[in-house]
Amino acid sequence: TSFGFKEVREEEKSRMVDSVFRNVASNYDLMNDLMSAGLHRLWKDRLVSKLHPFHGMKHLDVAGGTGDVAFKILDTINSIKPRTMHDVLEDDLQEETQIYVCDINPSMLNVGKKRAIERGFGKSLIWVEGDAEALSFEDDSMDGYTIAFGIRNVTHIEKVLTEAYRVLKRGGRFLCLELSHVDVPIFKQLYDYYSFSVIPAMGELVAGDRASYQYLVESVRRFPSQSQINLVLACITYMWSNSNPTEKFASMIANAGFQKVEYENLVGGVVAIHSGLKL
Ligand code: SAM
Repeated sequence: TSFGFKEVREEEKSRMVDSVFRNVASNYDLMNDLMSAGLHRLWKDRLVSKLHPFHGMKHLDVAGGTGDVAFKILDTINSIKPRTMHDVLEDDLQEETQIYVCDINPSMLNVGKKRAIERGFGKSLIWVEGDAEALSFEDDSMDGYTIAFGIRNVTHIEKVLTEAYRVLKRGGRFLCLELSHVDVPIFKQLYDYYSFSVIPAMGELVAGDRASYQYLVESVRRFPSQSQINLVLACITYMWSNSNPTEKFASMIANAGFQKVEYENLVGGVVAIHSGLKL
C-alpha cells in the first residue's frame, strides 16, 4: 500500500540520518567551518542574539550535535555583565542556568561533551540523547528552544514543532536556524554548483566520505517538503497563496500554536531564522 511505502521511506530516512551523523561526527566541526567558510559561526551568533539568554534560564537546544549553540548561549550569559557578589547571591536564590543539548546521535553528543570539557563548561550543560519528535522533557518547562541545522533531518516536522510548543513555558521563545532556498538567479547557480560539486568533493577529500555530504546537500533541497504528499500539498499551497518554502515553514510554526511568527533571511536566503512565541 502507499501507506506501507511511506513507512519504509520514513524508516529509510531516519536510518540514513543516523548513519550520516555517526560517520561525520569526528569531522563535523571542521567540515562545518570549511563548507560555510566559517559563516555558520556568525549565523549561530545571530540566532543566540535573538534568544536574549539570561542567568537562571532553562533552555533546550534540540539536534544540538556537538554543542555549538549551547556553548554560545552560555558564553552570552556569562558575558551579560560583570557579576557582583550581590548578583551571585541572587542567582543562588534563583534556579541555576540549565542548558540542555538534546540529540538523537550519541556520537555527536560525545564529541560535544569532550569540547565542553576542553572549554571548561561546568554543570550548566546537560547532554541528553533523544528524539526531537518525542522529547522526554516536561510540559511548560523551558524558557527557550533552539534548533540549528536540525529540522530538515527529522522525519515529521509537525511533530517536532508540536513538541517544541509543549515543552516551552508561556512566554518561551522558539528559534530555528536552517539552510533555505536561494532566490537570487546567478547566486542560485553558484550556490548549486557549490552544493552539488564542491561540498561532496570536500567531504571526500577531508572526511573520506562523499556519500554523507551528498546526502546533506540533497536534504536541504527537500526541506520542508519531504514526501510526495507533502510536495503536492506544497504545490497547491504555493499556487493558492503564492508563498515560498520559507513562508510555508512559518505557517507550519503558526499551526503548531506559536504566535508572533517571523523569519529573517540571511545571505540572499541561503539561511533563514524562524521564530515564534508561546503566549
Ligand atoms: N545543531 C548543530 C549545529 O548546528 O552545529 C548540529 C547540526 S547537525 C547538521 C544535525 C543534527 O541533528 C545531528 O547531530 C543529528 O544527529 C541530529 N538529529 C537528526 N535527527 C534528529 C532527531 N529526530 N532528533 C534529534 N536530533 C536529530
